[in-house]
Amino acid sequence: SKYTKEDIIRLVREDDVEFIRMQFTDIFGQLKNVAITASQIEKAVNNEIMIDGSSIEGFVRINESDQYLRPDLDTFTILPWRPQHGKVARLICDVYNPDGTPFAGDPRGVLKKVLKRAADMGYSFNVGPECEFFLFQTDEEGKPTTTTSDEAGYFDLGPLDHGESTRREICLALEQMGFEIEASHHEVAAGQHEIDFRYADALTAADNIMTFKLAVKTLAQKNGLHATFMPKPVFGINGSGMHTNMSLFKDGKNVFADPSDKRGLSKEAYAFIAGILAHIRGMAAITNPLVNSYKRLVPGYEAPCYLAWSASNRSALIRIPAARGNGTRVELRCPDPSANPYLNMAVCLAAGLDGIEKGMTPPDEITENIFAMDAATREAKGIKSLPGTLKEAVDCLKEDAVICTALGEHVLGQYVEGKEKEWDAYRTHVSKWEIDRYLVMF
Ligand code: GLU
Ligand code: MG
Ligand code: MG
Repeated sequence: SKYTKEDIIRLVREDDVEFIRMQFTDIFGQLKNVAITASQIEKAVNNEIMIDGSSIEGFVRINESDQYLRPDLDTFTILPWRPQHGKVARLICDVYNPDGTPFAGDPRGVLKKVLKRAADMGYSFNVGPECEFFLFQTDEEGKPTTTTSDEAGYFDLGPLDHGESTRREICLALEQMGFEIEASHHEVAAGQHEIDFRYADALTAADNIMTFKLAVKTLAQKNGLHATFMPKPVFGINGSGMHTNMSLFKDGKNVFADPSDKRGLSKEAYAFIAGILAHIRGMAAITNPLVNSYKRLVPGYEAPCYLAWSASNRSALIRIPAARGNGTRVELRCPDPSANPYLNMAVCLAAGLDGIEKGMTPPDEITENIFAMDAATREAKGIKSLPGTLKEAVDCLKEDAVICTALGEHVLGQYVEGKEKEWDAYRTHVSKWEIDRYLVMF
């Protein structure tokens, strides 16, 4: 690893660090932290910082609430948007029980477990996420709206693009934190943006997504804007996805590549694709966790709805981008940025590994535009759909033993309970759509 305990203590002393944020993520993907002052850094690197987990969503009950934070020293970084005298650093932490065992409700721990399984098979798992988000204006009181003064579209630039300077600040801040930004551009919808950073091992990639979201939200706010990763904030235009590009490496080589195959893909790549397709309905409650997620997964907005794969076709759920050799990868297009990135990657990997272990083969590639097919044609071709609602997704999750096992009993139980409550709150709410549609008519 990059840093020792002594390195961290020295960095804090010599680099004028005043506060250290000890960060972790709850099961619903919210970033949490306890801030300590520099005087506590020795305690922190010796895993002695305690938290009360009972008030954290999906963590523990009140009678078993003491937990310890074990910082991953390599995640030490300075937050560039905080004061640069008396700086603020952060460390991403694993959550442990008082008896020294990893806490089963820690999503980072869930991902580590599945990564361990992959490692036992000789694989490391690399992920490159494409996070999309909206920048909206705030009103006179500083409250977020869903309006944008920005008229730009895909790949447009200023003066149409009013988010340009904010996006630039975000990119620069992330680079200061060690990100390699590969591309950033305006997305299709007005006010919508995408910033792509270089792929990494899945644990780092998930940590990076959490950092990314914090940076985007913070810097948007500094510019008087509101950034949102809500999947479908505005009806009638594109929503925000988090396309997840995945590959498995063995001995430094991408095992998804096989130049002798007609598509340049290996048996493992096909089996991985098959595994994802076999489990995606059970994974959807994780990859697309909100009531609102399912309003993005509808025809007409570049988001997938049907279970199909293709080497090129963007209407498919799984696409194989053109790069080959070590860049060979499988792009899953359904996840959205409201997903807990640790759990998202854990279920993707578990599904792909299941495909490899069971030697699954995927159905035929679909090269036509699936959105142009009618239901009968899809049925004849055996093309199934993603769940249409959060409720359907949660029901599918409960039935998928492979995905349930990957999450573990604790996370599964808490997650399902939370999502069923969320669905119930939505189901019983009387919406504006209903008033508009029914109040006068009946
Ligand atoms: N915004 C689209 C989505 O909801 C994706 C657009 C793209 O292909 O980048 O997934
Ligand atoms: Mg995009
Ligand atoms: Mg993409």
